[in-house]
Amino acid sequence: MSTKSIHDTQHITYESLLEGNKKFVANSLKLDPEYFDKLANGQNPPVLWIGCADSRVPANQITGTQPGEVFVHRNIANMVIHTDMNMLSVLDYAVNVLKVRHVVVTGHYGCGGVLAAMTNKEFGLIDNWLRHIKDVYRLHADELDAIEDQQKRADRLVELNVIENVYNLCKTTIVQNAWANGQELGVHGWVYSIKTGIITDLKVSARDNGNMEDVFRFQS
Ligand SMILES: [Zn+2]
Repeated sequence: MSTKSIHDTQHITYESLLEGNKKFVANSLKLDPEYFDKLANGQNPPVLWIGCADSRVPANQITGTQPGEVFVHRNIANMVIHTDMNMLSVLDYAVNVLKVRHVVVTGHYGCGGVLAAMTNKEFGLIDNWLRHIKDVYRLHADELDAIEDQQKRADRLVELNVIENVYNLCKTTIVQNAWANGQELGVHGWVYSIKTGIITDLKVSARDNGNMEDVFRFQS
């Protein structure tokens, strides 16, 4: 077990990454000589993961999955923004081509994006992205303002941000058309604790647009 601090990243260099890759290839082939041949044949992941870009929240490691098992999109604070062509393209491909059965938005406590959005500081270009989190705060200001403890308030905003982004996924034509066509598709919200490594299901899963506010509902 390494006792090296997680913050000590001096040993990670451009060259060491390539060395690490060689070890990965050797170890993978030792376990299964056909490992890469199998992966090269295509992918059939059952899950799309929408998570934070934070280096401490890697989708595969924390869910015990392997290459080929989770389709991944990551951005700052695991956001689902209506006009984000990158996210929408990933979602469209995952739902309509790969036919994933689950889309999971995974936030994490201590998220730098959420913490930054709670301040009145100007950070630059990223303010335009963080403003979407401020919108989530505004939607739930009564609940959040009533939480005196700063840490608990931030934790709750992390959860509410996940819930709003699950809802944003449900609002898309991509998800609603899949449901209208009878495709099996669950949309879920999880939150990860960096302190414990444990994922909590926020139990906001949706499998149809039955609970959706009328203005967002498309008729097929
Ligand atoms: Zn984060």
